Amino acid sequence: MKSLVTGGAGFIGSHLVEELLARGDDVTVLDDLSTGSVSNLAAVRDHPRFQLVVGTILDPTVVHGVVSGCDRVFHLAAAVGVKLIIDDPLASLRTNIHGTENVLMVCEETGATLLLASTSEIYGKNEADRLHEDSDRVLGSTLKSRWSYASAKGIDEAFAHAYWSQFGLAVSIVRLFNTVGPRQKGRYGMVVPNLVGQALRGDPLTVFGTGEQTRCFSSVHDIVPALIGVIDNDATRGQALNLGGAHEISILDLARAIIRVTGSSSEIQLVPYDTAYGDGYEDMRRRVPDNTRAHDLVGFAPRTSIDEIVRGVAESLQSTVDRSDWTMQQARPHASTTVIV
Ligand code: UDP
Repeated sequence: MKSLVTGGAGFIGSHLVEELLARGDDVTVLDDLSTGSVSNLAAVRDHPRFQLVVGTILDPTVVHGVVSGCDRVFHLAAAVGVKLIIDDPLASLRTNIHGTENVLMVCEETGATLLLASTSEIYGKNEADRLHEDSDRVLGSTLKSRWSYASAKGIDEAFAHAYWSQFGLAVSIVRLFNTVGPRQKGRYGMVVPNLVGQALRGDPLTVFGTGEQTRCFSSVHDIVPALIGVIDNDATRGQALNLGGAHEISILDLARAIIRVTGSSSEIQLVPYDTAYGDGYEDMRRRVPDNTRAHDLVGFAPRTSIDEIVRGVAESLQSTVDRSDWTMQQARPHASTTVIV
């Protein structure tokens, strides 16, 4: 089996590459190394069935070159991270919309099976008790840049669905809910590595807003086998599947867990959203997946606890040489914060 992983030098992609090689695939990675890095691929770099192509999904010729001859394509390349989307909305829109259309077009042409990595962001501010794949999308103003990511990924999904219904492209969509694990960087705004980095340095943990907002974090080690399960299952074609963590936790409780697990002496600071991100940011109060479809179709059952996740992220951060990746730069440094612990 020949697999292509776009975005394979990224956090999730690099774990997927390792798993595919372990299962006997020939694996090509296409990555522009914008947020991914070669160091994420250190364990596989010299593997005889592995090759890395540095290039962009925005170039149809490059995409054609790497997809040709592949049986299946895991499309993970995207501009990700709330901080990055707010700082450079135009690049995010271009990469996430035009780049994905290139991948869809070429897969349709070559007959490769495609997995599109989408996101729970597409549900926007829908705070339903369990977000089902058919739940409504509740997005804020188009002029708030946070929503450009949800909009772009929504277009990607609609594109994929149309290629399936009109051309019979074998494509499946997964919506990832706050996937976390080793190699994830805090600098693009993801909360777990950002807070773990702060805890390890003894800096205050920056909890945005009231900290009462909740998320369901899932381990990359639970997600990767599910990605392969989905692409290998014909019953998932033309469908979207939620893949999220099993336990809802507030960001404040997450910060407390991080301090406990890392043994840090840091305090927790509440930081107003506009101090953290500047304008263009709106948060969602909660985001809880209904994983029933993924459970029924591919046996998805996330097992990793938040403590195990935090431990894995802490070990990974401690082993990185470039510590500037650990935490995000805030729009304005710690003005008007509240120390609560
Ligand atoms: N967050 C936080 N401190 C940080 C980074 C993020 O309190 O240093 C909050 C953020 O406002 C959100 C939650 O943590 O409520 C998850 O943020 P992330 O960007 O990781 O994911 P998403 O918002 O996409 O769920």
